[in-house]
Amino acid sequence: MHWVDAVSEQLLERGNSHKVASGTSISGQIHFGNAGDVMIAEGIIRALDEKGGSGDLLWIMDDMDPLRSVPEQLPQSFSKYLGYPDFNIPCPEDHCTSFIEHFTTPFIEALDEVGVYPEIISSAELYTSGQMEPYVIKALENTERIREIIQRISGSEKSDVWLPFDPICASCGKITPTTAMEWDPDDKVVRYRCDEGVAGKKKILGCGYEGEAKLTEGKLTWRVDWAARWALLGVTCEPFGKEHAAAGGSYATSSVICKEIFETEPPFPVPYEFILVGGQKMSKSLGNVISLSDVTSSGTAELSRFFFYRSKVTSQKDLQLSKTLVPLIENYEWVERVYHGQDDNFPAKEEEELRRSYEFSQVESVPETYFQVPFTHLLSIVQIAPDWDSVLKALARTGTPEVPEEHVDRLKRKIAAARYFLENHAPDQMIFSLLDEAPELEAEDRKVIEAYLNAISGVDWTADELHNAVYTAAEQLDVKGGAVFRALYRAFLGKDRGPRLGFFLASLDRDFVLERLGS
Ligand SMILES: [Zn+2]
Ligand SMILES: [Zn+2]
Repeated sequence: MHWVDAVSEQLLERGNSHKVASGTSISGQIHFGNAGDVMIAEGIIRALDEKGGSGDLLWIMDDMDPLRSVPEQLPQSFSKYLGYPDFNIPCPEDHCTSFIEHFTTPFIEALDEVGVYPEIISSAELYTSGQMEPYVIKALENTERIREIIQRISGSEKSDVWLPFDPICASCGKITPTTAMEWDPDDKVVRYRCDEGVAGKKKILGCGYEGEAKLTEGKLTWRVDWAARWALLGVTCEPFGKEHAAAGGSYATSSVICKEIFETEPPFPVPYEFILVGGQKMSKSLGNVISLSDVTSSGTAELSRFFFYRSKVTSQKDLQLSKTLVPLIENYEWVERVYHGQDDNFPAKEEEELRRSYEFSQVESVPETYFQVPFTHLLSIVQIAPDWDSVLKALARTGTPEVPEEHVDRLKRKIAAARYFLENHAPDQMIFSLLDEAPELEAEDRKVIEAYLNAISGVDWTADELHNAVYTAAEQLDVKGGAVFRALYRAFLGKDRGPRLGFFLASLDRDFVLERLGS
């Protein structure tokens, strides 16, 4: 059974209607790895719907959290905002209303492209609007018990004066350096001091102010905050990175707080593996940050989805666009053929999982008919065909005389992806351009090409025949096939390597090929 089906069936045993939450802390550009939560959650909702249940998809911005480090894309001068709650930080480029809008807008647009439309919830708004207030009161009233739970589950000890609330300083606006000192249940305020705190690895000094914060002027501390949010929003399922899933980790602690303090069943957990890039975590300093829109632009929206649904949530995932994008697309194309009964070379026990991976990868409904032009062919075609009409001609020459009307849009998106991939991520050896003029070739190469011309005279003008003729020519001259390939690439591209030769030649105009070869 596909893991999405397994999760949704376990959820249906608990009830019919669900809220599946996902979330991201906003600490700069939201990258492809951050998309995991919400993509996984969306698949679960789809499966719930199919099985007669229902689900709402929530995406919660952790915008009440303090800025813990300067986002890698911003100048160090931005460090003056360290320790401020994210929702109160301005746009770093002065072009939109806030830091949050600046970094979430491109991500939300990218989600839109892959057919994911969550209800977007601001954590800051849950607090400032007062919706969280009953939970904040409950937590403060139960500080003793929460302290005991945190110690029992996670082993972390809180001081006797600790309170599960972080006020925002009314004087300097920071949240990190404040220390809550006393809870006044009559006036519903928390007295605090703005002394010092730690954001990420940096010590943040406070302004020295002492004052009172209303319960809408701060937030619950992390593990209590997570539990309160589940209770307030009625979250029944939540995917999260495996770092939260350890014994004594934040999920374990928040679950007990949720149950014992807020008297609510904690959500069904779906821990998942990180996404690596070439074996490494994404970071700007390594220059390997990939965004959701980058993957979608390079491989289509279906491919972005497929990345998350093709294998178990708990399996290690690696995506390096220059190296693994093409194999990933080839894998998707294989699954597509399996789905449409065009390929029976697969392990029988995997059929259902393969079919479901394909279905979950669709942005719109599953296409009823099968039509496929392999991405590797398109990578070759788009480098000789600058527009749609010339692409159609090249396709016609290579065995695809017609593109069915219902597949035109999909094919156009795939072509756009091939062009984007070539421009932005393809390794150099994949990139070529046709020489405008026939180059001066060495005598050796001329001889090889003459033999090749002989070998193709009279054969069908197909990719296979044009490929096989390479070996006929090589045999005739008693040279290796490589010498023939090289001479041909030199004649067309001015380099020693190129795309799959038979397909490449077949996609070109026959008269042009013959003329270039000096026939
Ligand atoms: Zn902006
Ligand atoms: Zn202060």
